[in-house]
Amino acid sequence: MNFVSTRGNVSKIGFIDTVLMGLANDGGLLVPEKIPQIPAEKLDAMSKLTYQELAYEIFSYYVDGEIPDNELKELIEKSYATFRHPEVTPVQKLTDNMYVLELFHGPTFAFKDIALQFLGNLYSYVSKKTGESIHILGATSGDTGASAIEGVRGKEGIRICILHPHGKVSKVQELQMTTVDDKSVLNLAIKGTFDDGQRIIKELFADVDFKNKYHMRAINSINFVRIMAQTVYYFYAYFQVKKETDLTTINFSVPTGNFGDIFAGYLAKRMGLPVGKLIVATNENNILEDFIHDGVYKPGEFRSTFSPSMDIQVASNFERYLYYLLEEDPKAVSDLMEKFNSEGKIVVSDELLHKVQQDFAAHGVKGEECLQTISKYNTETSYLLDPHTACGVAAYESCNKPGEICVTLSTAHPAKFNESIERCQIQQTFPEQINQLFNKPQYVEVVEADKGEIVRHLEKLFSLTTK
Ligand SMILES: *Cc1c(COP(=O)(O)O)cnc(C)c1O
Repeated sequence: MNFVSTRGNVSKIGFIDTVLMGLANDGGLLVPEKIPQIPAEKLDAMSKLTYQELAYEIFSYYVDGEIPDNELKELIEKSYATFRHPEVTPVQKLTDNMYVLELFHGPTFAFKDIALQFLGNLYSYVSKKTGESIHILGATSGDTGASAIEGVRGKEGIRICILHPHGKVSKVQELQMTTVDDKSVLNLAIKGTFDDGQRIIKELFADVDFKNKYHMRAINSINFVRIMAQTVYYFYAYFQVKKETDLTTINFSVPTGNFGDIFAGYLAKRMGLPVGKLIVATNENNILEDFIHDGVYKPGEFRSTFSPSMDIQVASNFERYLYYLLEEDPKAVSDLMEKFNSEGKIVVSDELLHKVQQDFAAHGVKGEECLQTISKYNTETSYLLDPHTACGVAAYESCNKPGEICVTLSTAHPAKFNESIERCQIQQTFPEQINQLFNKPQYVEVVEADKGEIVRHLEKLFSLTTK
């Protein structure tokens, strides 16, 4: 399996090199040269597999023999052994036509663990094979940071630096990242927004000399492995729900920020999974909703909401979707991205918009609606939704048609976002792992959202490495 850049200026590379490159060296994003096609009979056989077995089948298409089968199986086993639920991502039926896919049973109680437990083990595996150290740099709106640190802490040859927006993550998110007492972990709280952090990181990764000199690796969803790992639960959920319905297609409602998770759903659909509509659930940072309704993608004013992990204006994975929307034409993508950089917006034709709307629906959820949805489902179904999942459920209510079935992705455990749950006058009991965080000392430095200052911190961290 070869991978290419959405902008067409990277020569074809294999799976491991794709993992290591992260952001494509031409500033684009890496995608498979050909999306693997899974025939119906194979899907049927896959529907009987455990989560881990299914992950192995799906990963094998992309890894394509670069990791020996038994080692790939071991990596997968190890990555999901840390989950608290035997099914890894169980499905719960909430109403007659809506199921919740629980993605929060990993170590940090958010869906990012599903890809980052695997990516952490994969980096460690590669580092052992090549003898090279791995320096991870990432920006987070809260959950990626905790998850990435948890995925790599204590692993030999790996150092990690995470930027999070100072004061804009939930208390539990902050504690999960900053209570790790480990010299190879550096938390920088930047005075700015997630978009500032993401922009700085993209700039640093685009500097190929810097990236190579320091062996810098990405854990954000610009890394294709994140997407690959996240396709698995679309298959898994589809197979579980299919046991209870005669319908062929199933919709998915996805709380969306960087467009990574929902892009994984799009990829699953392109691989052959009978997905109906992919419902983009956003909060008040709703440029993706506007794009799906009007064909105009234009980042606006950043807003802090009850669902901070979705407080994102510039969705880094959107370019991957554009690539497929534009029939895999890297020249057309480059032109559009150039235009985006100079004019600050992307506008697509009516014909393309029609194509977008065949795959996607969207709903931007306002703060009040988010909280009302939490309260309503808590009362009517005794199920406590976290505010991100609540956006997904509200979008399902707005976009799902009668007679259709929808799976809403539950991207986090409510205990991570107690600030919002308290606003609904609901008292929740914290899991023990979260309770323990409150008594630990924190390790974090507050810095300006300035590339130079961040580079100085990085150089200090990386110079700790002997190799
Ligand atoms: C990261 C995150 C999202 C958004 O996922 P994207 O892949 O960035 O679209 C939604 N909910 C939670 C809880 C998250 O941590």
